[in-house]
Order: sequence, then structure tokens, then C-alpha cells
Amino acid sequence: MKPSPQIQRVVERMSPGVLCRDGFLGLDTRALPEIIDADDSLVAAMGCSHGQIAAAMRPILDKAMACYGTPVKVGGDLLAVYREAMGRIPCPFGDGELLPKGEVELSDERRGQSVLFTPLSVHLIGEHGFYQGRPSRWRLEPDLLADILNLRDTRLASDGPPR
Ligand SMILES: [Zn+2]
Repeated sequence: MKPSPQIQRVVERMSPGVLCRDGFLGLDTRALPEIIDADDSLVAAMGCSHGQIAAAMRPILDKAMACYGTPVKVGGDLLAVYREAMGRIPCPFGDGELLPKGEVELSDERRGQSVLFTPLSVHLIGEHGFYQGRPSRWRLEPDLLADILNLRDTRLASDGPPR
């Protein structure tokens, strides 16, 4: 099926060099709705939601951003550090959202895993269920996120969400 003009515009904005150097789709050969559907099924199968994942990421982002590059404990074995960048980036879905550039590296010291995300990634997950294409530096695997954020089976960590 031919993608709608609306989807085509979103895909154009996601191309490398339009809103950001790397774009949002990486080397993924799947169509955008296919990427979103696949991640939707994955998240549903884990018993959580995009909203829950974004809601768990947001306080980590806020806390890391408030510490300007100093690594900060964000609950359990999680350590977050924000690397600031100049300027803002609009949401490629064209909803008028404009978010600060910069990235958070979130590491789970116990598991030895880490993820890299941006203020825009949190918006893309929460509002659009979009984890970016793969392979790409910016792709966020929903199962890895759910593990690090302790969201599988809808049970939150026993010590509660990070503050
Ligand atoms: Zn948006």
C-alpha cells in the first residue's frame, strides 16, 4: 500500500540531514508504520505501554539535565549523565513540539547495560510509540529499556520510580 501523504512528510523529515545529521530511521528498510507496529506488539507483549516507558524515562531525564554533565544516581543501580548540546530540535511528526538537543546516557551498573536517549526520544516514545529505526545509534530497543527501567510485567521496582 502506498503511504499516505502525511506519513510521507514525516518520513521526509526523518531523513538524514533534515532535522538532524543521522535522521531517525537508521538503515531500517521497513516502512515507518511497520516499525511502529512491530514495537507496539513488542511493548504490549511485555505487559507495559509506551506511556509507562516514557513516564519512567522523564524523571531520569529531568534529574540528569539538572546536573549538567555530572553523573547522578537515579534509583537502584542506575546512573545517568546528561551531555548538553546547543539548540532545539522539532518533533518529526510535525506536532509543533520543540525539544532541547543533548543526550542522556543511562547505565545499569549491575547489568552492565546502557542506553542513550534524548529529550526528543522520550517524546517520540510517549506520544508516538516510536523507538527509531534500526540499526541506528539512536534506536532504543523496547525490551532493553523495559529491563533497565524495571517495567516488565507492569511491576515497578520495589523501591519505587526514581526521583
Ligand atoms: Zn511529536
